[in-house]
Amino acid sequence: MTEKKGLLERIDADEVVLHASGYLFEMERRGYLQAGGFVPEVVLEHPDVVEQLTREYARAGADVLLAFTYYGHREKMRLIGKEDLLEPLNREALEIAKRVGQDFPDKLIAGNICNTNIYVPGDQETHKEVRAIFEEQIGWIKEAGADMIVGETFANLGEAEIALEVAGQAGLPLVIGLSLLQNRLRDYEGSFVDACKILKDDGADVVGLNCHMGPETMLPFIREICHEITDGRVAAFPVAYRTTPQQPTFGGLNDRYLCCPDKLPVDGRSFPAALDPFTVTRYEMAWFAEETQRLGARYIGGCCGSGPHHIRAMAEAFGRRPEASKYSPDMSKHAILGDDHSLEEYTRKSESVF
Ligand SMILES: [Zn+2]
Repeated sequence: MTEKKGLLERIDADEVVLHASGYLFEMERRGYLQAGGFVPEVVLEHPDVVEQLTREYARAGADVLLAFTYYGHREKMRLIGKEDLLEPLNREALEIAKRVGQDFPDKLIAGNICNTNIYVPGDQETHKEVRAIFEEQIGWIKEAGADMIVGETFANLGEAEIALEVAGQAGLPLVIGLSLLQNRLRDYEGSFVDACKILKDDGADVVGLNCHMGPETMLPFIREICHEITDGRVAAFPVAYRTTPQQPTFGGLNDRYLCCPDKLPVDGRSFPAALDPFTVTRYEMAWFAEETQRLGARYIGGCCGSGPHHIRAMAEAFGRRPEASKYSPDMSKHAILGDDHSLEEYTRKSESVF
């Protein structure tokens, strides 16, 4: 059996590593996770469902099998009164990723850490608590024998720095995704590109942006990062929702065509459970994949809202043909729009009114 190539080995060989992390929103849509607290109890309640989605991303061409521990940290478990489930949940999530990995031996198994929501700049007490959260999660990741860690959705540079220190001690490659809110980090006055450079100088293996922004909004930011970080170790995984330069954060999207705004849980906000009309097509995600690859980023993928169809289209944009490509669209046999010679001419003639 040949040894699988590691994260950095792939990137440094100019290969794109395709990331998929739409678990939270996908599980919410399917009825296995509650919008609001957003805690992945599904890992313990329905591990088969998490395993299935992991498989779907793998079939769609994701190179990374991400353990679903996003928001499965101590602070979130405390919030729902289930701290006793913290360790079993983290361990089971890693086992699920490893189980899928048995059928996809080339894929990278990744542990996942994220924003804790308790970090307060200048408050050392909170920094200690954040560090303890990362230490315990990264300890389980290390024990599970994961290949790498993805640290996501950090809106504070200081919190990302703590994640970086703890991951560094574990000796695992780390991808850091910063998440800008209204185009900036919350605790850092400088540019986000400088923030990326600081993290890189401090030892982060891959740095970039994830979440909050959709593909078209995120692209110019990735262009700026790639201008400064030119070794390909740049991460770019946007949400699969259409944000705009005027409203660059999906949390602030507001659907002006909605029939019944009074039904929304938070006034005037489509986030998080009414984002459906903003969902980007697979072609937009494929476009983002192509463009960011051209800019030089080599860790590319999808965050909240991205389903397996988005990931497959991204894989195909890189010239790949994952297992799920067997069923990629082929309109030649469509009853009305197709051109197969065996199609009934009478039906095809309805094209103009279709
Ligand atoms: Zn996200």
